[in-house]
Amino acid sequence: MPYFGFHASISGGIYNAIEEAQALECGAMQIFTANQRTWQTKDPAGEDMARFKDAWEKSGIEKAVSHNSYLVNLASADPANLAKSRAAFEAEMRRVDALKLDGLVFHPGSFTGSTYDKGLKSIIESVNSALAKMKGFGSVLLFETTAGSGNSIGGKFEDIAAMLDGVKQKDKAGVCFDTAHVFEAGYDLKNDYEGVMKQFDRIIGTKMIKAFHMNDSKTPFNSHSDRHMHIGQGELGKEFFGKLVNDKRFRDLPMIIETPADEGMDKKNLDILRKLCR
Ligand SMILES: [Zn+2]
Ligand SMILES: [Zn+2]
Repeated sequence: MPYFGFHASISGGIYNAIEEAQALECGAMQIFTANQRTWQTKDPAGEDMARFKDAWEKSGIEKAVSHNSYLVNLASADPANLAKSRAAFEAEMRRVDALKLDGLVFHPGSFTGSTYDKGLKSIIESVNSALAKMKGFGSVLLFETTAGSGNSIGGKFEDIAAMLDGVKQKDKAGVCFDTAHVFEAGYDLKNDYEGVMKQFDRIIGTKMIKAFHMNDSKTPFNSHSDRHMHIGQGELGKEFFGKLVNDKRFRDLPMIIETPADEGMDKKNLDILRKLCR
């Protein structure tokens, strides 16, 4: 069975996320390692990090990943914004490394005000320079598939392949596959699961997937609009999730829900996924 989990809150202390994930018997979890609404992030105190690692070790949670700040845009056409984004990305990498997390999920970026080619180049340069600065980075950078809205890069499998191709340290990069985003970007996971996975395998390689975001989609196929829904209540539907959770290629991966924060729904969504496992 894959490792199921959800995005846990670090409010009141980063270690609190462990307790929250444990309460729902999660095998995986995702966290923000710092406040993602501000550029002025503070690293968790050393003792908080130690408490986190200690609680994690005892928790039964196999896989934990971070989600990068939404403010960061490694494809930004504005030099000041790009510099801030790169600094924040590198700070996130340091926290991920210190916490010994299994991956750092990030949205590749948006080329608004520039061109696709320049944006792509900027992302690749940002990642390569960050990895070159951080010798021995112990985690993996996971390029998240996007819904392909506006000028965001990552909605096409070719986008992701091009970025991975540009990363020099191959063992430090992978993919976070967001089910809602891929469907919204125009890959029909609902009616042609095997076909989409074959296409992904040909263009990127399914072995590159190191994590899944398990979201149903509120918006229709090919909408290019990123709206998450509870499992089975969206346009993707339960049958699709049944195929994915039983796909042997992904048996040992973290599968994390990022569904709306409605009371009691994390547990319900996780229960549905577990029940779908044969
Ligand atoms: Zn994301
Ligand atoms: Zn999304």
